[in-house]
Amino acid sequence: MDWASIFIHDTTWSFALEVALRAAIMFIMIIIFLRFTGKRGVRQLSIFELTIILSLGSIAGDPMFTEDLPIIQAVIIMSVVIGLYRLCTWFVMKYQPFEYLLEGKPVYIVENGRLVLEKIKEGKMSHDEFFSEMRRQGVEHLRQVRIGLLEVNGNFSLVLYPLDDIRYGLPLFPKPYQAVQRVQPDYHYACMYCGNVAYLTQAHELCNRCHNKSRRWAKAINNEIVT
Ligand SMILES: [Zn+2]
Repeated sequence: MDWASIFIHDTTWSFALEVALRAAIMFIMIIIFLRFTGKRGVRQLSIFELTIILSLGSIAGDPMFTEDLPIIQAVIIMSVVIGLYRLCTWFVMKYQPFEYLLEGKPVYIVENGRLVLEKIKEGKMSHDEFFSEMRRQGVEHLRQVRIGLLEVNGNFSLVLYPLDDIRYGLPLFPKPYQAVQRVQPDYHYACMYCGNVAYLTQAHELCNRCHNKSRRWAKAINNEIVT
């Protein structure tokens, strides 16, 4: 293996200097063009916005180190991409269906203290991801949540039950979220797949809501939410 060829090849000092200059120019261009998107920050991006950022990045990258690629060509492409972005955001504001097409729709993940079956079956997000999102917002068990909505930018919005309407639900933290091996007749148990709460006569009963084959139940808890 020729290490000199991998790391240096035919790079001359003058081209190295040119690469540095090209990189600096494109860096400034990216900032200018991102300012043109009109966005204030990029903490949470929708898929559409991420596409724009990725295309800008790849367009800006090549002229940084390609000798025979003039920067003006990259600037033209970036202008077109930003122009299309502005056009799309205008359409999105005008026509709702276009927004759904481009950005997707918010999705109900939790309704009335249980996971929405169709959504977990579609696998839009794993149990782990839902649970960690809810834990991050201080939710201890599913029955504290009346509505859990997955926004298009990946945020998880929650509406909680009032304090005087807390019942038994599926625990979301790892220690209590464990399958029981034995059941007691007057305890509440929660299906670990869908959050359905029931009394059980045996530890591996089939859940009559989701009919999931795993047949795993955790001991349900009814703690109030701490605010
Ligand atoms: Zn179930």
